[in-house]
Amino acid sequence: MRGFYKRFPRKNRNLKPNSKKLTRRIPVKDAFIGGGGRILIQSMTNTRTSDVTATVAQIKRLEAAGCDLARVAVTDERDARAVRQIIEQIKIPLAADIQFDYKLAILSAENGAHKLRINPGNIGGEDKVRQVCEAAAAHEIPIRVGINSGSIEKDILAEHGNTPKALCLSALRSVRMLEAFGFYDIVISVKSSSVKAMIEANRLIAAETGYPLHLGVTEAGSPKSGVVKSAIGIGSLLADGIGDTVRVSLTGDPVAEIEAARGILRALDLDKNYVEIVSCPTCGRCRIDLAALVDMVEEMTKTVTKPLKLAVMGCVVNGPGEAAGADLGIAGGPDRSVLFQRGKVLRTVDNENLFAEFIGELAKLL
Ligand code: SF4
Repeated sequence: MRGFYKRFPRKNRNLKPNSKKLTRRIPVKDAFIGGGGRILIQSMTNTRTSDVTATVAQIKRLEAAGCDLARVAVTDERDARAVRQIIEQIKIPLAADIQFDYKLAILSAENGAHKLRINPGNIGGEDKVRQVCEAAAAHEIPIRVGINSGSIEKDILAEHGNTPKALCLSALRSVRMLEAFGFYDIVISVKSSSVKAMIEANRLIAAETGYPLHLGVTEAGSPKSGVVKSAIGIGSLLADGIGDTVRVSLTGDPVAEIEAARGILRALDLDKNYVEIVSCPTCGRCRIDLAALVDMVEEMTKTVTKPLKLAVMGCVVNGPGEAAGADLGIAGGPDRSVLFQRGKVLRTVDNENLFAEFIGELAKLL
C-alpha cells in the first residue's frame, strides 16, 4: 500500500509515523492530545447547543462519567454564541463541530471554543479554510480534520472508490491544505460505519502522518451493537499503538459512550486506575449467587480509581488460581466459601454470611 501517497509531500518529517509515542502533542485547553500521552475520551452532546442549560447539564453528566473533552454541534450563530456561556460553566475542554459554514467556525473560535472540528472539503473553498486556520491560530486552538466515508471528494472517489485508501487520501488532502496555510495543530479522524474500513484507513493514515488520530466508528448504532463495533474498531487500533483520542458513537444518552470508551481502554491496560473484577461465567458447579455478588461489587467499585484486582469465582476449580493474582478473591463452595487475599487463604466463611464478609474485606481495601 505504500507509495500512493507520494503526491502528498510530508512536511512533518520530524514526526515519525506509526508510533503513538511520537505523534505531535496538541494542546486543548489544559489537556493534550497525542505525544504518547493519555488517550482522551470524548463524547458529543445531543442537546440543542443554543439551549445552554440543557447542554451544560449534559456535559456535567459527561464530566462526572469521566469524559475528557465534549463536542457540540454548531449549526447557527446562536449555537456559536452559546459556546461562550457553556465553557464558563464546565471544566473539560469544549470542541465546536462545524459543517459547511466557515463563519460559524470563526465565530466559535471567537467565543472561546477550545478546538474546532471541520471537514475542509465542505467548508467552501481554500480561502475560507485559510480564514478558519487564521482564526484558530489567533485563538491558539487546534483543528480536527474530520473525514467520513460519506464526505470523500468526487475525484478521489472516481479514482479509488469508497475505500479506506480514498478516506486516507481525502484526509491527507485536507491536512495539506491546512499545512499550506502554516497551520499544524491538527488532529485527524477518518471514520466509517464499516469497522474494517475504519481500521484500514487509520492504519494507512498513521503510516503517513505524525498528527494525533481521533478514533471512532461512525454511526455505530445502538449501545448493544455499537459497543461491539467500537470495541473492535477502536480497540484493534489502540492495541497496535495507533490512536490518541477516542469517541464511541452510540445512539442515545452520550454518557453510555464514556462507559464504553473506558471499558475499551481498560481492556487494553491503557487505564489502570480502576477496580478490575475477574468473575467466572458460572456452571453447574457453582452453588452461590455469583451474579448478584458481581453486580454488588461492580456497583460498589464503579467510581473507585484505585487499581485493584478482584476475583469472584463460582467454585474452587478455578477460583484459587485466579484469586492468586487478586488483591481479594472468593471461591464459592456448597456450604462454605473461601476468601483469598493476594494468593493466601484469608478464611473460610459460611455462605449465608458470604456477601457481608466479602464486602467487608473489600471496604478495607478501598
Ligand atoms: S470457576 Fe467453577 S463455577 Fe465458575 S465456571 Fe469455573 S468451574 Fe464453573
